[in-house]
Amino acid sequence: MVLAERIQQVAASPTLGLDAKAKALKASGVDIISFGVGEPDFDTPAHVKAAGIKAIENNFTRYTAVEGIPELRNAIVEKFARDNQLTYTADQIVVNCGGKHTIYNLAQVLFQAGDEVIIPAPYWVSYPPMVVLTGATPVIIPTLESSGFKVTAAELSRAITSKTKAIILNSPSNPTGAVYTHSELEALAEVLLKNDIWIISDDIYEKIIFDGMKFFNIANIHEELKPRTIIAHGVAKTYAMTGWRIGYMAAPKEIAAAVAKLQSQSTSNPCSISQKAAVAALSGPQDSVDVMVSAFDQRRRYLVENLNRIEGVHCLTPGGAFYVFPNVSAYYGRTLNDRKINSSTDLSDYLLEEAKIAVVPGSAFGDDSCVRLSYAISMEDNQRGLQRMAEALGRLR
Ligand code: PLP
Repeated sequence: MVLAERIQQVAASPTLGLDAKAKALKASGVDIISFGVGEPDFDTPAHVKAAGIKAIENNFTRYTAVEGIPELRNAIVEKFARDNQLTYTADQIVVNCGGKHTIYNLAQVLFQAGDEVIIPAPYWVSYPPMVVLTGATPVIIPTLESSGFKVTAAELSRAITSKTKAIILNSPSNPTGAVYTHSELEALAEVLLKNDIWIISDDIYEKIIFDGMKFFNIANIHEELKPRTIIAHGVAKTYAMTGWRIGYMAAPKEIAAAVAKLQSQSTSNPCSISQKAAVAALSGPQDSVDVMVSAFDQRRRYLVENLNRIEGVHCLTPGGAFYVFPNVSAYYGRTLNDRKINSSTDLSDYLLEEAKIAVVPGSAFGDDSCVRLSYAISMEDNQRGLQRMAEALGRLR
């Protein structure tokens, strides 16, 4: 059997693959500590679960409007007005089956062969394959640790060609936790104002932000950019709702309509029950978010401080999300017995086998110098895991 060429051009998600491997080892009795997971270790808030249960009890279990129920689309309109001072109408909002699906749908309706899509690296693992699946070409801009893993206006300007269709921005970032400040976005906006390209802003980690930093979307910077900015968002990370699969977008009407059309021929509506739960999440009390963010903040400080104490490791302090992205390249070229570490993949395999900890190789995010650790695990596991990592690295000569 010959599979379509398009699916042969991409690999399966390395983060989900690692997570499955770590879970399988755990299930077989190995004491694995997984820094691999990209999901909060908190439970979905009680009032959100109650809304889902009520939806089932009320038999809200049938097909809904393809683009999402009006109640949820209105709650999303209100969210953008309240949190982001951005005005949308309900026909600019489409609800999708998870934030990943939101971006996949956007790629499908916007890109085609011949297009270039700019993706600053380190990037979320799924952006390049989603672009490749459309026949378009991802154009990766590597960013430097010294610039806080953020793309500069000059780098952006150099990457834009007559074929550029869009740029994908992600702040706070997975995997680096980098958060663009108002002035950094202003500098990018200057370039984008001169170049008529789409801006996909993946704001899924908007609420997971530390040190009193303020979140901005590029559409907040220049009113003129708003008609070219599409916001991809979701409830998974903010409300510990990864399994409910609700993402959403705010887009110009014609793009929203195209995504709804694609969805009508593919998934149909997102889960009816999850949509009711998402209304409760977005419109109900927000205190669970603060509780989660302050726990993440504690773990973040612990990890950054203690990673930087390990000889040869350096780690920037992330401003948001729940990941750290330490540079471990000082260990490349080192050996234990006959085993030589040459890359982030070698190091991740070594740490899984020798230290029984799962970390994701930086190469999956377009930066082989680093590995990603998610601290969405208990403080105790963070401490035990880091101890193991330090010991295992210490054995390499
Ligand atoms: N965008 C980024 C940067 C992410 O890290 C993720 C999940 O890991 C998503 C989007 C999609 O999240 P979900 O599909 O669970 O809503």
